[in-house]
Amino acid sequence: MNSGPESRRERFHNRDYRRDFLKYKAALIRAAAMAKRHGISHREPPFQVGAAAMSIEPGLPDGEYAVYTGYNFTPTPVKRRGRDKRCAERNVFEAALEKGATLIPAMVTVASEKHTGDKTRAHDALHPCQDCRDMMRELRDKGILPGDGIICSVNDSKEISSGKFAEEQMSVDELLALYDDMDAEQPKLDFGANF
Ligand SMILES: [Zn+2]
Repeated sequence: MNSGPESRRERFHNRDYRRDFLKYKAALIRAAAMAKRHGISHREPPFQVGAAAMSIEPGLPDGEYAVYTGYNFTPTPVKRRGRDKRCAERNVFEAALEKGATLIPAMVTVASEKHTGDKTRAHDALHPCQDCRDMMRELRDKGILPGDGIICSVNDSKEISSGKFAEEQMSVDELLALYDDMDAEQPKLDFGANF
């Protein structure tokens, strides 16, 4: 039986990562909430976002995932785009990619905000900004972020009636489809050198 890198990749990627996500979801939310505390923001009150992603990368034992966390870093009030804008989401993707992630099946964000300035798409929890969405599209094109991968956005500003925080869980495809038309009108960033 072929046990080279291709079959190894195949085996990893055939995991039921949606089921695995449910197993690790609470821990990922806790990890993102911890990372959020480190978020650096010039705003008052500070705009803090934490993110945690689970990834599959070479060298991991069967059935295991690596977990990366990240937070936003925007210490001064200047207009930022692309690589100067350090969002929690892109920081966490880049951390995973640096370690050779071949698949990032799920990412959780925690924030007490609901939007990054765009109020037109109603949602209960913060969605990734356009720069992050553009990066997600590129990662999806490269097969690293699967279309049915999970993006779970948690709003920790107040508990909802069930005693939990508001959250929105959708697939990568569903999230990006919400913004495809809007993002198509904006100039694209070149992330090519980053991964
Ligand atoms: Zn962003």
